[in-house]
Amino acid sequence: MNQPQINIVVPLYNEELVFDELVNRLQKLMDNTRLSIEVILVDDGSKDNTAGKMRELSLKNEKFQSVILSRNFGHQSALSAGLNFVNASEAVLIIDGDLQDPPELLDEFYAQLKKGYDVVYAIRKNRKESYIKKLAYKWFYKFLKKISYIEIPLDSGDFSLISLRIVRQLNQMPEESRFLRGMRSWIGYSQIGLEYERERRGAGESKYTKKKLLKLAFNGIFNFSEYPIKVITKLGLFTIITSIIYFIYVVIKKIFFGDVPQGFTALLFMIIFFGGIQLFAIGLIGEYVLRIFFQVKKRPLYILKERVVNKEILDS
Ligand code: UDP
Ligand code: MG
Repeated sequence: MNQPQINIVVPLYNEELVFDELVNRLQKLMDNTRLSIEVILVDDGSKDNTAGKMRELSLKNEKFQSVILSRNFGHQSALSAGLNFVNASEAVLIIDGDLQDPPELLDEFYAQLKKGYDVVYAIRKNRKESYIKKLAYKWFYKFLKKISYIEIPLDSGDFSLISLRIVRQLNQMPEESRFLRGMRSWIGYSQIGLEYERERRGAGESKYTKKKLLKLAFNGIFNFSEYPIKVITKLGLFTIITSIIYFIYVVIKKIFFGDVPQGFTALLFMIIFFGGIQLFAIGLIGEYVLRIFFQVKKRPLYILKERVVNKEILDS
């Protein structure tokens, strides 16, 4: 089969409900664009019939290849799996399977790529989510931008068109706790953001549970920032200096005025307060240690169960 110009990588977890619509949209895109496209669908251990539908599709249409993982490894790992099977000659478009990222933007993104950009990422103009979720996202990205040592564009997700040399770099990064939008930015070259309206989910509910979302946020913070550690050090230093000043003050008071310091409540508060700070600090350091712990094991990012390529099932 001819090598396609573009791969579209789509991670899917329990997306049976939007699957048909997704395939229709992608098929329409392929019919309407001059670019040659091959889609790489990744099943991230779905419990519904997503994998079944993928297999059926790939067996009759060689423009869709299926990568089926052995269990749920999470969105970032599923995406990384998809990137490992890229066979395009020019670039890769990364989208969510729930059609929140309109694949039709491909031509517009591709035009930027042709201008010499290696990464064309999408910036969400507005989110159609609950007020709390929007606020949480906004604060998180602002915070991350402040503390991280790389330029992470505000309000951009994984939705992007990336050149092959970016894909090669991503594939070579062995990071276990992946935060692809950060890694993508870290690689460098020229990158540009384009605004778009983020749609509502095509069907079904968000597959990012609060726990998974928090894990992603933590990966963003602890993989791209040394700020938490620095804060602990500064806090410790500040505490020591304050305590010395206070000690001198008390001694002087005792010598010249002879009164004994009182304040049982203040004492109790300080003990509890600093006990809390110490635990928090250990927790922060623990986050880094945990990442080292998982990294040194050098486990693969995912386990492949099956691939369907060129209408053929390949067991791994
Ligand atoms: N997803 C995945 N593995 C997971 C969770 C999500 O592959 O463990 C996929 C999901 O099927 C979708 C994309 O990641 O294609 C984004 O997830 P979702 O739309 O649920 O997240 P949200 O848009 O609500 O942040
Ligand atoms: Mg979504």
